[in-house]
Amino acid sequence: MENIRSLCVYCGSSGRVNPAYKQAARALGERMAKAGIELVYGGGKVGLMGEAADAALSAGGRVTGIIPRHLMRLEVGHGGATELIVVETMHERKMIMFERSDAFIVLPGGLGTLDETFEMATWRQLKLHAKPIIVIDVKGYWTPLQSMIEHMIAEGFVNEQHRALLRFVPDIDAAFAVLAEVPEPIPGPEVKWQ
Ligand code: AMP
Repeated sequence: MENIRSLCVYCGSSGRVNPAYKQAARALGERMAKAGIELVYGGGKVGLMGEAADAALSAGGRVTGIIPRHLMRLEVGHGGATELIVVETMHERKMIMFERSDAFIVLPGGLGTLDETFEMATWRQLKLHAKPIIVIDVKGYWTPLQSMIEHMIAEGFVNEQHRALLRFVPDIDAAFAVLAEVPEPIPGPEVKWQ
């Protein structure tokens, strides 16, 4: 999978969740490390974020965390990350996460995960990038989101062709199968940044 060198993982910061979600985060981190793919993420040590980072590091992978200074205490910046970039704002964090990744993988998460996912989806809708956004539907967690998007399409608020902006897959194997199809090189933005 030479076309994918780094993956940004968006996932929950909560640790009070079903262990199956944590297991999925660990499995993804390990799988990425074994495939030689760098993990780019929010830099925290908590919740699924910490699980994915710890698993990638234990399997010898490269982990880059990007965390705003004010969240260093709340999310406990991951001291073991290969590289921990401390920034001043959430916007800076999201931009560096975007710039440093070839594609995005979404695991179960909360409002922050949704914000990050939909920022990338809407940028792609506006043709600002063409990086794949893959949502792993662990334990059916994201099925209601899929239904919501279908509802939005049915009611005319979302164009049918934008259904494909988020690729929902059932598991990590299916996510890697999607990544294997990504053309080389990943097309650049059709619209230049201001
Ligand atoms: P959550 O899914 O809410 O557990 O958050 C996952 C990650 O998203 C954490 O690293 C949060 O710091 C981050 N996050 C939370 N709110 C926002 C936001 N409004 N914009 C960007 N990231 C956020």
